[in-house]
Amino acid sequence: MDTPSEVLHRVFGYDSFRPGQQEIIDQVVSGGDALVLMPTGGGKSLCYQIPALVRPGVGVVISPLIALMQDQVDALRALGVRAGFLNSTQGFDERQLVEAEFLSGELDLLYLAPERLRVESTMRLLAKGEISVFAIDEAHCVAQWGHDFRPDYLGLSELRERWPEVPRIALTATATPATHAEISSRLGLDQARHFVASFDRPNIHYRITPKAEPKKQLLDFLRTEHPGDSGIVYCLSRSSVEKIAEFLVEHGIAAVPYHAGLDARTRAAHQARFLREDGLIVVATIAFGMGIDKPDVRFVAHLDLPKSLEGYYQETGRAGRDGLPATAWMAYGLQDVVQHRRMAMEGDDAHRRRQVLHLDAMLALCETAGCRRVMLLDYFGQQGSEPCGNCDTCQSPPETWDGTVAAQKVLSAVFRLAKERRQKFGVGQVVDILLGKSTAKVLQHGHDSLSVFGVGTELGSQEWHGVVRQLLAQGLLAVESDYGALVLTEGSGDVLRGQRQVLLRRDTLRPPRTRGSGSG
Ligand code: ADP
Ligand code: ZN
Repeated sequence: MDTPSEVLHRVFGYDSFRPGQQEIIDQVVSGGDALVLMPTGGGKSLCYQIPALVRPGVGVVISPLIALMQDQVDALRALGVRAGFLNSTQGFDERQLVEAEFLSGELDLLYLAPERLRVESTMRLLAKGEISVFAIDEAHCVAQWGHDFRPDYLGLSELRERWPEVPRIALTATATPATHAEISSRLGLDQARHFVASFDRPNIHYRITPKAEPKKQLLDFLRTEHPGDSGIVYCLSRSSVEKIAEFLVEHGIAAVPYHAGLDARTRAAHQARFLREDGLIVVATIAFGMGIDKPDVRFVAHLDLPKSLEGYYQETGRAGRDGLPATAWMAYGLQDVVQHRRMAMEGDDAHRRRQVLHLDAMLALCETAGCRRVMLLDYFGQQGSEPCGNCDTCQSPPETWDGTVAAQKVLSAVFRLAKERRQKFGVGQVVDILLGKSTAKVLQHGHDSLSVFGVGTELGSQEWHGVVRQLLAQGLLAVESDYGALVLTEGSGDVLRGQRQVLLRRDTLRPPRTRGSGSG
């Protein structure tokens, strides 16, 4: 039997493991479970491919990325690895062939779409072969508290019951502590070792700017900072993808559109050009990018606000995978927020609440006066990093105003609700209380008799929402549940006692009116 390093050299042709890979591979090879959080481009695939080659039997990889399976399998075959896949794009004959290979032990790796496991015949097939490892890729799809939930993933909990002796490795690039915990419980990974690689991408420069004239802003950004570079421009809708791609071409910049409304051949052709050519820009919806491995993407630009920090991190993470300097640039505006809120209204209550919380976290990143990277890392569970010096807020600190009193008002409202009423409420109720609004919900709970009722009329509703988001971004307030209940944090006390000043950003969506200076 080959050792993992021998396989690394001989099959994959690499000299050494990337950080984390060896420990993860050793864990799985020895038969243990693993839960792996590693940023995009960190090298997750080898973590299950090598165990599959070292252990006897076939490695079964569950992946939602059906469109990429053929490419993945082709790439492996080119290295001499016996790989196959089963998904809905295949005809009967092709499927039969792969099944026969699986049964006769002629495969090292079998890629499966998650919905295949719902089909009892697939389960029976798997039971007839020898399985070396189950790899669950994009494992965050099992978490309902996340941005990419796929119901088919819930069926994966059965793997442990049916194959208790086969090691399982779950991998994801986007997990907050809450998602991480949910993955672990839903997949029954309580015996698993957890591996968390650093989420920091120090070579990416983060910059977020208010949206004024988005096309012109984009053009300036591309011309001054990335002339002739490869990159991705993300837009929210198919129609804006088309418009922006045309606009860039009209201005002499090589760009192609990519979205789910284009036919498969056009999409494949544009994707292939992007991978092959230097200096091509893909203007795309979030349909583009999953699993794309192009090391020299020099920038990722967002012309619309992503739905969540998970999405933002995943999309911007496609820049600079070669480790050379790259830019994550975004323009955001109030109209994005309105559009997202409207989209969030679709779906059930729980879905709606989650979307709103994701959006608030996203806005908090946009509006933070502190280091963007610190906030991102904090969100993904890596607390306590130092300001990075490679983001816009580090390099040119934004203008701030002393929001200590405003912060104290918010925090004392949350405090009073908790202390006097033993209640927790979301931002909407807290703001209504500060504004002194006698809404039905305020009256129903008797919140009009709280001492903080009506103490915040100097700001409007939008501004108070902004203050709350910035307090969340600074960790002075936290959201406790997916209901969005606000709770105090360790830092809140210092602010309430007047021992800590709170600086808030001035140039956010709706800056507070300052007396005598017009719109501020
Ligand atoms: P992820 O799935 O985490 O996004 P991949 O597994 O696709 O990342 O790996 C990203 C890139 O890094 C791939 O091109 C892969 O071949 C390369 N890679 C992975 N491990 C190593 C290694 N030990 N040495 C060199 N290159 C590696
Ligand atoms: Zn920074």
